Amino acid sequence: MPAALTRRHFLRTTAALSAAAALAPRQLFAQQADMVAQSRAAAAKVPIKTTKLYDNVFLLQGQGGNMALQTGPEGKILIDSSFSTAAPALLEAISKAGEGPAYTLINTHWHFDHTDGNEATHAAGYRILAHENTLTRLSTPQVIKAFGLSLPAAPAGARPTATFGSTFHLHKNGDTLDLVHFDPAHTDTDIYIHFQKADVLHLGDTFFNGFYPFIDEGTGGTIHGMIHANEKALALAGNSTKIIPGHGPLGDKAALQSFHDMLSAIRDKVAALKSQGLTEKEAAAKKPTADFDATWAKGIMSPAAFTGIVYRTV
Ligand SMILES: [Zn+2]
Repeated sequence: MPAALTRRHFLRTTAALSAAAALAPRQLFAQQADMVAQSRAAAAKVPIKTTKLYDNVFLLQGQGGNMALQTGPEGKILIDSSFSTAAPALLEAISKAGEGPAYTLINTHWHFDHTDGNEATHAAGYRILAHENTLTRLSTPQVIKAFGLSLPAAPAGARPTATFGSTFHLHKNGDTLDLVHFDPAHTDTDIYIHFQKADVLHLGDTFFNGFYPFIDEGTGGTIHGMIHANEKALALAGNSTKIIPGHGPLGDKAALQSFHDMLSAIRDKVAALKSQGLTEKEAAAKKPTADFDATWAKGIMSPAAFTGIVYRTV
């Protein structure tokens, strides 16, 4: 599938998200059901694009967050599960990619565009491994205020079956996978997964490659946390490390560095305005993102919406 098509689908969904955020509260309830339904309906039609990153490691991209797959005789390891409606195409792409029985699904964090396919993947034989906070978030109702979303607890079959606190290591199919929890960044559930030998690093939604990120302040996300997470990842990555963002095209250390530098510059500008006593509205009116908008204002977050998150969490 051409990259432009993926991007078009992404923008269509994110436009719906932004529209939902702008609605009056009374209209939200009807809209949010539409939004989840809309994403699922779109995901049913979007093919899964498979890109080989290493002998037995692949990038899988569809409607939801970016996924990764390791194949091998000791069992397949999948990272994130997209939308429930993408499951048939996802399972087919997994089966075409290479050998091995179902083994483990890892969730990078709790958000539904990364975990909605958990139940179907679990039913196909995968255990679900995630940070302990992901289990907590998926086991209880959650609210994403920015999008007017009230999400019920995930079904029992969609919840992690194994969890960890700070780090976990998997030794499978000739490689070692390091799973490490970030301090709260995009949410309080974020982890990275580093395939040591393949030198592939999945950063989940602590990295949006090419556009302003959503930061989920309702479940622990902060601008400082995002920047710290990027710094941790930059210290780990080499110049040839393949870096998978939660959204956007495959990245590398230089792309992550640009993202980090953009976040840091905007954080500093917004922090200065806030310390001068400006309200959130007044700070946004100063357009602290203006130098970056031509490059970064291309996705889910408008400059004003992104400035608001930075202001509230700085
Ligand atoms: Zn997310």
